[in-house]
Amino acid sequence: MTDQTQPTTVLVTGATGYVAGWLVKALLKEGHTVHAAVRDPSNKEKVAHLDALAAGQSGEIRYFRGDLLEGGSYHDAMQGCEIVFHTASPFIASVADPQRDLVDPAVKGTRNVLNSVNATESVRRVVLTSSVAAIYGDNADMANSRTGVFTEADWNTTSSLEHQPYSYSKTQAEKVAWEIAEQQNQWDLVTVNPSLVLGPGIKPDATSESFSIFKQMADGTLKPGAPDLAFGLVDVRDVAEAHVRAAFTPEAKGRYITSGHDSNLMEIASILRESFGNDWPFPKRTLPKWLLWLVGPMVNKALTRKFIARNVGYPISFDNTRSRKELGMTYRPLAETVDEMFQQMLDAGSIRKR
Ligand code: NAP
Repeated sequence: MTDQTQPTTVLVTGATGYVAGWLVKALLKEGHTVHAAVRDPSNKEKVAHLDALAAGQSGEIRYFRGDLLEGGSYHDAMQGCEIVFHTASPFIASVADPQRDLVDPAVKGTRNVLNSVNATESVRRVVLTSSVAAIYGDNADMANSRTGVFTEADWNTTSSLEHQPYSYSKTQAEKVAWEIAEQQNQWDLVTVNPSLVLGPGIKPDATSESFSIFKQMADGTLKPGAPDLAFGLVDVRDVAEAHVRAAFTPEAKGRYITSGHDSNLMEIASILRESFGNDWPFPKRTLPKWLLWLVGPMVNKALTRKFIARNVGYPISFDNTRSRKELGMTYRPLAETVDEMFQQMLDAGSIRKR
């Protein structure tokens, strides 16, 4: 791999995304030429924030059209690239057709991108944005993990098209990536597996599902109480940094859990209350599991009884040792991530004081 100080040419798929925004910024700052693949490069409004990032940086940005579901779609964007960052994949909690809306773009898209990598001699490394969703399905699965803490050795074995289809899409996509990677020796694959990504976006009106949690904290949805739901959390800027390190650390290999903190909804609510005061309808108590089981599915389609039974009330823990030791990652304090994201959404008017 090239030394990090040597500017090179890289491809970022899904460059309009929340995570990709910070990645593109970091790459431009390092002087790299970024081939930004987006669904519609003629939509100037959608790429304006990326243009603004490029202004004043030594790196340069060039746009290419790319759709995960169109074979060969990333071929042109990849020409001359040494590194491919494959971040594009739909991150949506509730969809009409999980196969069409989640699994096909994730799995066929990954196959599509990697087939083009195989046909592009300049590519030496692919950094795939996977997820801890490819490592575990339900919080209850932690009992079956080797260590009682999820590590890179774990794989999600419990998600399906019917149960947690987003997690299923990420698991299947990462598996396909490893299968394709193992059949050749022109390039190597490194995966970044973030937990729930939070923190301010490069643009405040991002559509990633990451923003929903704050909308629900602010709009009173969780005022009666929050589910006792635990998850890993990581700042979006740290996720971008992990991608850069995964690309430019020659010895990097395999999967990297990228998770700063084991947390839960009540901890986020208490950080928000501390910083933004008591006038907001942040939850003050945990909802009993039986009540959630009874009413959850009526309020939110994604809150199925099976999800509640296998996730609510269970702890969770992720081992981020590999990312700290091998990539040299350090993780921002949780309060910084939470406060800066909420403040950005407040300033942008996407949440309002009631
Ligand atoms: P996001 O803002 O919704 O970004 C998703 C990106 O994928 C967008 O650029 C989107 O393009 C692109 N995309 C979706 N369907 C596409 C298609 N058919 N063809 C081409 N591009 C398509 O979400 P994000 O949170 O940044 O997610 C980025 C990556 O991080 C995903 O792989 C996600 O699974 C992973 N991840 C996210 C989290 C999290 O908490 N946010 C955690 C772990 C892993 P458009 O702008 O055109 O829609």
